[in-house]
Amino acid sequence: MYCYYSRLLHHRAIYKYIHKQHHQWTAPIAIAAMYCHPVEHILSNLLPPAIGIQLFGPHIATQWVWFALALIQTLNDHSGYHIPNISTPEAHDYHHMKSTQCFAGLGILDYIHGTDLQFRQSSYFKRRFRLSDFVSTKYFGKAKQ
Ligand SMILES: [Zn+2]
Ligand SMILES: [Zn+2]
Repeated sequence: MYCYYSRLLHHRAIYKYIHKQHHQWTAPIAIAAMYCHPVEHILSNLLPPAIGIQLFGPHIATQWVWFALALIQTLNDHSGYHIPNISTPEAHDYHHMKSTQCFAGLGILDYIHGTDLQFRQSSYFKRRFRLSDFVSTKYFGKAKQ
């Protein structure tokens, strides 16, 4: 779902009015996740996590955990850091660098639609793994020293 919404934001009739502001950061830092047009902030950052809450009505503590995890994921996607046991930011970093690539959150729909072909051929793709320790991704594909 996010993949198609993201593709819509990149449509030529919409992009320059709404999503272009977010793409001013071609190598984003965590706080750049919130740097966007107010319409995008409501539709991308606030509404999606709130829909699940409205649909299922969980306990308030569960809502706090849900919003905290959503925020951590969003900040991580824009941080440029590989934090152990949190998903890799490589695909979204690449999306900020080349806005015609990597629209999806998990990458499955990008693979199906072929919108990650340049990413798959880049050196960034080799570093797209979730870390389980504190070894830098610069050692991926090389022997550790
Ligand atoms: Zn972004
Ligand atoms: Zn974008």
